[in-house]
Amino acid sequence: MDVVEGNIAEVYVDVAVHEVDRVFHYAIPSTMTLRLGQAVRVPFGWRSVVGVVVGFCTESPFPRLKNIGEVLYNGDSVVTEEQLELARLLADYYLCPLSLILRQMIPFRLDSSSWPRPKTKKVLVPVVEAMPSDLSARAVKQRELLAALLQRGELSQAEITSPSAAKQLVKKGYAREVVVPVKEEPLVSDVTSLIRPPTLTNEQEAVLQSLLEALTEGQTSTWLLHGVTGSGKTEIYLRLIQEALLQGKQCLMLVPEISLTPQAVARFQARFGSQVAVWHSALTPRERFNEWKRIKSNEAQIVIGARSAIFVPLTRLGVIILDEEHEHSYQQEENPRYHTRIVAQLRQRTTGSLLLLGSATPALETYAASESGKCHRLELRQRVSKRPLPAVHVVDMREEFRAGHKGLLSRRLEYALNECLVRQEQAIILLNRRGFANYLLCPDCGAVPFCPRCDISLTYHRRDQCLRCHYCGHEQDVLRVCSECGSDQLKAQGVGTEQLEAYLAERFSQARIARMDRDTTTKRDAHERLLRAFGQGQYDILVGTQMIAKGLDFPRVTLVGVVGADSGLYVPDFRSSERTFQLLTQVAGRAGRGDRPGEVIFQAFNTEHYAIECAKNHDYWGFYRQEMAVRRHGAYPPLGYMITLLFTSEDEAELVEDAVWLAELLAQHLEGVGQIIGPAPCSVSKIKDNWRWQLIVKSGQRMRLRQIVAQALEEYRNHKRRTQIILEFDA
Ligand code: ADP
Ligand code: ZN
Ligand code: ZN
Repeated sequence: MDVVEGNIAEVYVDVAVHEVDRVFHYAIPSTMTLRLGQAVRVPFGWRSVVGVVVGFCTESPFPRLKNIGEVLYNGDSVVTEEQLELARLLADYYLCPLSLILRQMIPFRLDSSSWPRPKTKKVLVPVVEAMPSDLSARAVKQRELLAALLQRGELSQAEITSPSAAKQLVKKGYAREVVVPVKEEPLVSDVTSLIRPPTLTNEQEAVLQSLLEALTEGQTSTWLLHGVTGSGKTEIYLRLIQEALLQGKQCLMLVPEISLTPQAVARFQARFGSQVAVWHSALTPRERFNEWKRIKSNEAQIVIGARSAIFVPLTRLGVIILDEEHEHSYQQEENPRYHTRIVAQLRQRTTGSLLLLGSATPALETYAASESGKCHRLELRQRVSKRPLPAVHVVDMREEFRAGHKGLLSRRLEYALNECLVRQEQAIILLNRRGFANYLLCPDCGAVPFCPRCDISLTYHRRDQCLRCHYCGHEQDVLRVCSECGSDQLKAQGVGTEQLEAYLAERFSQARIARMDRDTTTKRDAHERLLRAFGQGQYDILVGTQMIAKGLDFPRVTLVGVVGADSGLYVPDFRSSERTFQLLTQVAGRAGRGDRPGEVIFQAFNTEHYAIECAKNHDYWGFYRQEMAVRRHGAYPPLGYMITLLFTSEDEAELVEDAVWLAELLAQHLEGVGQIIGPAPCSVSKIKDNWRWQLIVKSGQRMRLRQIVAQALEEYRNHKRRTQIILEFDA
């Protein structure tokens, strides 16, 4: 679509004005040809700004349009037409401004003055074409240098051994210094591995064949790969990508941020070399810009990345893979609060790709879609090399307590850990709560120290001797006496990983223990280094939060223990059972991935809960059925649609007034369509001095629910209500 479709361009203006979501109209000068997605300079108020052409029209309600200034970026587009289409669909889906989505797609300010400057270096080049006869034979160094220059074409500063000779050559006009750009190296090197990929198991082979058929026949659709932990899903991804590349298609490989380790990237690099581009939030602006250019120019054929990689401008996209598709980190926590899986589903449509969702514990939404035929399902029921899934035991901590055993570890787990250490194998112990103790409690008056800025108790960290807020990071000294009654009997309540580590160190003084949670991995690469050291056998026990449950493949781990396996069940969230089941299944999957069988021990008080029962029995289907019944009963997703309106403000009175106003309006419109819950304070009702209330609307009709909310929000704004509202969808 190279032609101008009208003489007016619709331009999305990239200015940091709050909530500018209008596209602005500009007249296209007759001498100018414009294409969708191009960056342009336009007059805006009294200044000139940069924008993106997002559409064309022939009529405008605005009289006297200003002209487009100039086309930037050599006329190349900064977003593709397909990205624009995706952005429209997303803005519609999430009821959010188009500008917010475009900002995800253009990962730098459009103004070229803010782009990272290309790296340059000074080199010496010859001006003459042969050794000049008038260069004295006695100027040995100069002759040597010039000879080298003539032979090599250029020499960098570092390669010149005699700077004075160089100076003389320049002075005599035989050579000169020039500044040249340095070729930026891709983040992934071009060294492929010679190690032969493994022969696929029969199960893997069958799964791959189905996918390859679909790919070859251009059956663009969504597939769920439900494969137990250790069943070799990554090998399937690699083969699928390989075939797609042969067919000239590009691939997008998404993994959870925490799994995007150099090892994971290396596995792809080993097969595909520098066709791979890497994309995640920790790239420097320069790296980001360079990778973006490599992707945009079709130099990269595969992008491996975290959440935000779903937006990269690949133009011949043929395969999108979402590994560990159930992972919570695919949910963006800031505006726009998109879920990567939803974006991937829309992008599957805008590009006509094959979308593959892989997991051992699929999200309920995904599995339900595979049951109703909205996506195809493939299964890997066995681990590779006929390795068994680990045996799981559930220890009832009530019985332990009754028998007088009040330690953190049950007798069974303590025994198993001992045996594991004697066999010189490795163990993983999970406790999904960091810090030493949950909170301090005054036994005399019942007071608990709270964060001054959030409505949440402070967590006790013993090593740093501080109380810390896990929501805003506020830190203060540990109280010696109760601030309410002056009692000096303050007691630490509840257990965190720091305490578990100390407990283990005391019990197993010979063992080398590593702890991994957000407190021990604040430094860059710390996460990475800990895992590498554990993998090399420098530790015997790895203690940590849910961070250690994901994707680790350490063959020497034969024991996995979970302390407080049921603790996640009491979080007020309709997904708490699902999260618990997923976490337990995933962490159990870390055991017995090598030659020796694994054992898993869950410690819980509420041992009868189906999330724990089913995780114990490796029974996804059983969990799915029971959880779906619960969701049906409450009309929760995937059996209903839900929008959460989160109100935040420093002014609580105004917030409540606004929330009640909107709730009444919504209640009228929702009659007969759905239900409304709230407004009510969130479970953490204040964070960083901002009050938080929520209003939940639910309905079986997705489009209708969105229309109603969109309309109500428009009225809300028209009535100049000021409290900020953040929308969450089915979350
Ligand atoms: P999953 O992601 O399903 O948990 P992985 O893809 O990490 O499993 O595979 C587990 C391990 O098995 C990896 O070390 C992988 O290299 C290996 N593996 C995969 N497929 C095969 C195979 N067909 N034969 C032997 N080993 C394999
Ligand atoms: Zn007190
Ligand atoms: Zn706080």
